Amino acid sequence: MSPPAFASRLRAWHQKHGRHDLPWQHPRTPYRVWLSEIMLQQTQVQTVIPYFENFLERFPDLPDLAVAPADAVMNAWAGLGYYSRARNLHKAAQWCMIHHNGHLPEDYDALLALPGIGRSTAGAILSQAHGSRHAIVDGNVKRVLTRYFAIAGDASSSAVDKQLWQLAESLLPESHMADYSQAIMDLGATVCTSRKPQCTTCPLAADCLALAQGNVLDYPGRKPAKSIPERETHVLLLRSRSGEILLEQRPDKGIWGGLYSLPEASDADQAQARAVGLITAKSPAPISLPAFAHTFSHFRLTIHPLLWDACTAKSQIRDNASIRWAAPDELRQLGLPAPIQKLLKRLP
Ligand code: SF4
Repeated sequence: MSPPAFASRLRAWHQKHGRHDLPWQHPRTPYRVWLSEIMLQQTQVQTVIPYFENFLERFPDLPDLAVAPADAVMNAWAGLGYYSRARNLHKAAQWCMIHHNGHLPEDYDALLALPGIGRSTAGAILSQAHGSRHAIVDGNVKRVLTRYFAIAGDASSSAVDKQLWQLAESLLPESHMADYSQAIMDLGATVCTSRKPQCTTCPLAADCLALAQGNVLDYPGRKPAKSIPERETHVLLLRSRSGEILLEQRPDKGIWGGLYSLPEASDADQAQARAVGLITAKSPAPISLPAFAHTFSHFRLTIHPLLWDACTAKSQIRDNASIRWAAPDELRQLGLPAPIQKLLKRLP
């Protein structure tokens, strides 16, 4: 669809179905639009409305806000959350008093230089308050564009972000910018919603690529889940005739630092060699128990347990401070690592 057709379809839909009675739309002054855009950054329209009205009663225009004590501004914001927004709003108002004669600048770069105003907020303020041709790529617009153009990939990546800004800019109409900006944001907020988009009532449905592909909910693309490294270990389950288990204290550094755990080896051969050094067993061959995985924040560990039963300790390890036998009731008190505790509970 050509850019003019895209914009005119959106505007026609907006005239009939868009939101026309939002308090910041009447009148649409730069200060009111700015305040609403900052409040709406992390918050739903219905929540914002009473805060917006109360804030305006207390600070009707930019100079009132600039001279207000910081406590009063924070108090008017209390309950809305993300308080850095209020602090930035206040600082920006004071900056405008000093550098812009008490007005919100109409120049895009000057606006962008104010605390708390990013590219999309600057575009929203200028297009709505002054009707100038600036794009918006907020969360709602991102959703509409990634679906309509079936833009795959992580929508928060700089490559997709760049593509979305280019598209958003190429679609801007020559006139009626305030209505167009409101229309595309409203479409994202009320029709092209994240979980249950109402495609049957959408003005873009006829040529929406995601709808044609039948995978609307795949857009916008999310960050791929980070794959974490895999590691493996073999643990030696050395059990005496009376049910005691041979434990080894781990080094202070590294996973399970300082805890008692089962002796470990990097593979089955090394495990066998360690077992020979630690115990005398009726049968030198261990029983392999089912392997299981445990996920740490930065890697996933697959644990292969090997069981030697009915064994006795070699004499040289009896006085070893880091290696000891533990009876079943002691095992509960020693604070072993959780996956090792689970393994011991499952022992035949
Ligand atoms: S047709 Fe559906 S997915 Fe496509 S833009 Fe409209 S609401 Fe969004």
